[in-house]
Amino acid sequence: MNHSCGKQFALDFEEEHPGEECGVFGIFSDGTVNPAYTVYNGLLALQHRGQESCGIAVSDRGVISCSKDMGLVSETFNHRILEDLVGQMAVGHVRYSTAGASVRENAQPLVMRYIKGTLAIAHNGNLTNAYELRQLLARQGCIFQTTIDTEVIAYMIARERVNSHSIEEAIRRAMPKIHGAYSMIIMSPQKLIAVRDPHGFRPLCVGRINQSWVFASETCALDACGAEFIRDVEPGEIVIADAKGLHSIRDPVSVKKSLCIFEYIYFARTDSIIDGISVYDARRRAGRLLARQKPVDADMVIGVPESGVDAAIGYSEESGIPYQKGIVKNTYIGRTFIKPSQLERERSVRIKLNALSSSVRGKRIVMLDDSIVRGTTCARIVSMLKESGAKEVHLRIASPPFLWPCYYGTDIPSKNELVACKYSVEEIGKKSYADSIDFLHLENLKKMLGGQCSGFCDACFSGKYPAEVPDPLAAQKDDDYFTPIRRL
Ligand code: SF4
Repeated sequence: MNHSCGKQFALDFEEEHPGEECGVFGIFSDGTVNPAYTVYNGLLALQHRGQESCGIAVSDRGVISCSKDMGLVSETFNHRILEDLVGQMAVGHVRYSTAGASVRENAQPLVMRYIKGTLAIAHNGNLTNAYELRQLLARQGCIFQTTIDTEVIAYMIARERVNSHSIEEAIRRAMPKIHGAYSMIIMSPQKLIAVRDPHGFRPLCVGRINQSWVFASETCALDACGAEFIRDVEPGEIVIADAKGLHSIRDPVSVKKSLCIFEYIYFARTDSIIDGISVYDARRRAGRLLARQKPVDADMVIGVPESGVDAAIGYSEESGIPYQKGIVKNTYIGRTFIKPSQLERERSVRIKLNALSSSVRGKRIVMLDDSIVRGTTCARIVSMLKESGAKEVHLRIASPPFLWPCYYGTDIPSKNELVACKYSVEEIGKKSYADSIDFLHLENLKKMLGGQCSGFCDACFSGKYPAEVPDPLAAQKDDDYFTPIRRL
């Protein structure tokens, strides 16, 4: 066995997880709550969903002020900027790029001027017909400032608005034409509107602070700004907050709900509740199911921080093997992509995780992680534990192997980079230096949700896509539609 890495360990942590998506947050204030500060707090709680860029747009009686930039929420905003963002409602966004390059012009919210005034849009998800729509619009003379799907959505809504009596009616008319995944918040001059695609791929919920209405990707963001959870936005629903209160219309097209199951496995924060199911409970159940699937004799159960820890607790509860801390994560590491040189980038990820030697030495360990993408990180962590004196490391993965790409907003690498497309489970175990390995069985995904979920997407594991997938050749036909303008 080749343990090529030392104890202070080489670890490119990000590469082992699919890219997060985006987070959206908005508030229609009753005048007792400052919209900009509330959105700022909400975005801080949603930072795990995207760390590339962020932005806040505030509407003061239809006049929109917007501040956005590359970087983390805490780096991008300060008191001076927030004090300048004055208004009655606001919408915010944190971004991880899954469609459109990671450049400033693609930062959201997207603010547009059209026939009825201004619109600000914050969007989470990917359209599956974005290329076709963009081509269609471009041929009709539309000029695009960005390469993100959100701009296509904005055009589709603006076109429908010309012949609609309200913005929500325009959104309702545009929805059947935009396919794929979208949970979004739209700010018009008078209204704040939350929209979830008919499949409900991405989460979106409604909260309240006094008589102020709040929309957020996850409930953890409601908690962060002191909002009471009211309900989830239903798939295909348009929820409108305005001076009259909260009201809703629904897309008449009924399709099977397909919430992304990976929200529970990895994306969402542990303290969020999505569509009535606690993320923490789902992760613990995954651990319990793994303990039943393939029991093993061991001295301790550990979890790879963060999401592996919850599954480890569940495994421990079911197996009776004590849960202990075996890996320490440095939570003060900044983003890795802005480091000026590759060497600095490497260094910054190399100090992200470390083994807790005093805990693991001489022990037979069951180690829980949420997923395996390329397989490199797992191998390094197992090696690290053994370098630190662990006698055995049994790997348990709280999701099935990734075998298929995602077209609904998750950045899963191509099949030739997915370790499970190249190797059997046993081979992955050997390559990871693990003494045994097991993945959560596909049929146990439903049990992981406690039988409560009315419909979910597991296409990246099963290959069963609940909605159309994009034409794989379409995006290669003319790259100009998606090439960002280089700004120096
Ligand atoms: S394919 Fe996978 S990552 Fe994409 S929406 Fe479905 S479950 Fe989520």
